[in-house]
Amino acid sequence: MSSHLMLVPSLACPASCAYCFGPHASGKTMGRETLEVVVEWQRALGGGASEADGDLPGNGRGTLEITFHGGEPLVPGAKWYREALPLLRDGLAPRKVRFAAQSNLWLLTDELCELFLEYGVSLGTSLDGPEAINDAQRGAGYFAKTMAGIERARAHSIDVGAICTFTAQSVAHTPEIFDFFVREGLNFSVHAALPSLRYPEADRWSITPEAHGELLVDLLDRYLENLTRVRISTLDSMARSVSAGRGGICTFGECLGGYLAVGPDGAIYPCQRFAGMPDFAVGDVATRPSLAELKASPVWREFRAREEQVKEACGDCAYFGFCKGGCTYNALVGSEGVLAPTARDPHCASYRRTFDAVTERAMAEMFSPENLDAVVERPDPERGLMRRGPLLSIMRDGAIRTRPAATPAASWQQWRWRRPAHPRRPAVDGGAAALPRGGDG
Ligand code: SF4
Ligand code: SF4
Repeated sequence: MSSHLMLVPSLACPASCAYCFGPHASGKTMGRETLEVVVEWQRALGGGASEADGDLPGNGRGTLEITFHGGEPLVPGAKWYREALPLLRDGLAPRKVRFAAQSNLWLLTDELCELFLEYGVSLGTSLDGPEAINDAQRGAGYFAKTMAGIERARAHSIDVGAICTFTAQSVAHTPEIFDFFVREGLNFSVHAALPSLRYPEADRWSITPEAHGELLVDLLDRYLENLTRVRISTLDSMARSVSAGRGGICTFGECLGGYLAVGPDGAIYPCQRFAGMPDFAVGDVATRPSLAELKASPVWREFRAREEQVKEACGDCAYFGFCKGGCTYNALVGSEGVLAPTARDPHCASYRRTFDAVTERAMAEMFSPENLDAVVERPDPERGLMRRGPLLSIMRDGAIRTRPAATPAASWQQWRWRRPAHPRRPAVDGGAAALPRGGDG
């Protein structure tokens, strides 16, 4: 498991995106007392962890990635971050902490920029393309405020990437949306609008798995022609999953325990998408639960059962080694809130379609005359058979030693390449700097 912790300082959000499926509600801001308990809880997990606890965030090893999420995480303002950032960084020392925030940036101030620079807070935002397309689904005025935030961040030399949400309405404008991100020099990740566990009105914006698959393949082809101009982290991760045989984002992997989220009141959730839904809490920082106690919660057991049994539904899918049945939240929505242990992510068809497209295009690049010439003329054990081609260049970074296998995906891996996996932070499929995605939409 990875070492991510999502802190949701407030469930409030000043925007009113029509399709938002995530937490947005009024309520209190996370207080200093709760922050102090978060630090104690994390330290206790590290200090008193049994061997089995070694994989949890806070196990005292490696870097802990803390992402401020929402609601809108800048609602509490600079005063809150001035208190929280040193408290978390110093309280968790000697463990290294890396901070990120996923925000619409409306409330970004110069003071916050200075603080974020001081504490190395990476910024991701949410933007769905040109103004007309964005504001049609995120509300009038959203675009201008977020672009102003991006400009402010850039003026302080803070790079910002975006989560772009594609809805049933905006997916028809994919070329314009792609061109917008290229033009603005904004790297982005792809987020499909999903039905909501809590807001049925969001459902009409959600896109079908088929449309999602079409979208990802369309973007893949555009992306491969524009690799020097923009990065699409979702496609980077999916391509590297195929070459590395392991997931790079939370959707593709066993996420449980790797992305715990703490809400403003201290409730602990399996991930930020569940923040503010008490039925999905696995504990509360107030009681400093151990890993064993978290694991004993009904929600943890239910989610774990799915991780263990979803393979039955996925059968002999060539991609199971890294897809693992997709996202638990999506599976839950697809099961109308009652999670069956064999519930696959309903967007399975889109993942398969994209992994197939990656495999086909990579094979074509590998057998291209340019690549074969390079392989023959200038042998390079580091890069093996992956020498020339835009997709191969993405996949090389994720390549690891693989074992022969009979499935198409694994057969593809046999072609490979010797270099061990590039040490890369595992990420939730999110905004730039591989920020966690979620209910920001
Ligand atoms: S978004 Fe889905 S895959 Fe990612 S941590 Fe949440 S439940 Fe897991
Ligand atoms: S692509 Fe579909 S069948 Fe294959 S592992 Fe993922 S969810 Fe399961």
